[in-house]
Amino acid sequence: MSTVVDAIREGNVRVGDGAMGTMLQEAGLDDAAGSRLLTTNTFGGSRPRLAMHGLEDRVVELNEAAARVARSVADAHPGTFVLGDVGPSGDLMEPMGTLTPESAVALFSEQIAALSAGGADAILIETMSDLSEVEAAVTAARAVAPELPVFATMSFDTNLRTMMGVTPAAAVVAIAGMGADVVGANCGRGVDEMRVIAGQMADARPDGVLLIMQSNAGLPVLIDGEFRYTGSPDEMAAFATEMRGIGIDVVGACCGFGIDVVGACCGSAPAHIAAISAAIA
Ligand SMILES: [Zn+2]
Repeated sequence: MSTVVDAIREGNVRVGDGAMGTMLQEAGLDDAAGSRLLTTNTFGGSRPRLAMHGLEDRVVELNEAAARVARSVADAHPGTFVLGDVGPSGDLMEPMGTLTPESAVALFSEQIAALSAGGADAILIETMSDLSEVEAAVTAARAVAPELPVFATMSFDTNLRTMMGVTPAAAVVAIAGMGADVVGANCGRGVDEMRVIAGQMADARPDGVLLIMQSNAGLPVLIDGEFRYTGSPDEMAAFATEMRGIGIDVVGACCGFGIDVVGACCGSAPAHIAAISAAIA
């Protein structure tokens, strides 16, 4: 069976699933609006994050169950892949926090082993700010699930850098060097900044690395006491169209696409993903 990375190279996988895809499917939604990537709802599934809710004893159980739910949906839709989602640990690396390279690898290994046992096809490490935390997570994935491709994306939400000061160009080179198969950006401050980030990543892309961009649908605006994201499906579709052409002349770009996979992050709904899918098709 071909891996998700093969599927991207062959041009069969171009669209990420946006926020809450698997939750909506659990609630009975039949289709993923054109996505072939189903992300598990395990963003906060590492031990320190679950400990915030008194669930630190259930790391294996919850991650495995989440992967199994997504697996069952993917199995009903041939050609669809499960991305086992891994978010930041919530702690900082030493000296600013208490994480060491060893403790970080251990906590990510525990979560990733469970996602793999539950049937994930690949691991998605996302919304990262610190390259050493990314490295710990990629190292963990390679150690406990060596057969699974690794996607890793950072959030460049602070003047086109991550909170820890990493630039898009530095990120794509460093993360590719760690051995990730697919590298990119997620979350952030909407498509206007994301297209700049995508351009910088595409220009610095090491040969053979696939790129993924999963932008927030606009920025949150306070409306009637609630934060709402204002990015429209049309805006996301225009962004996706533009992503096809970004960096297309750069060495290493695959199959006539600049950015290989386009998804979405906070504020996206099935309508946004359907619009992205239609734009890319
Ligand atoms: Zn987000």
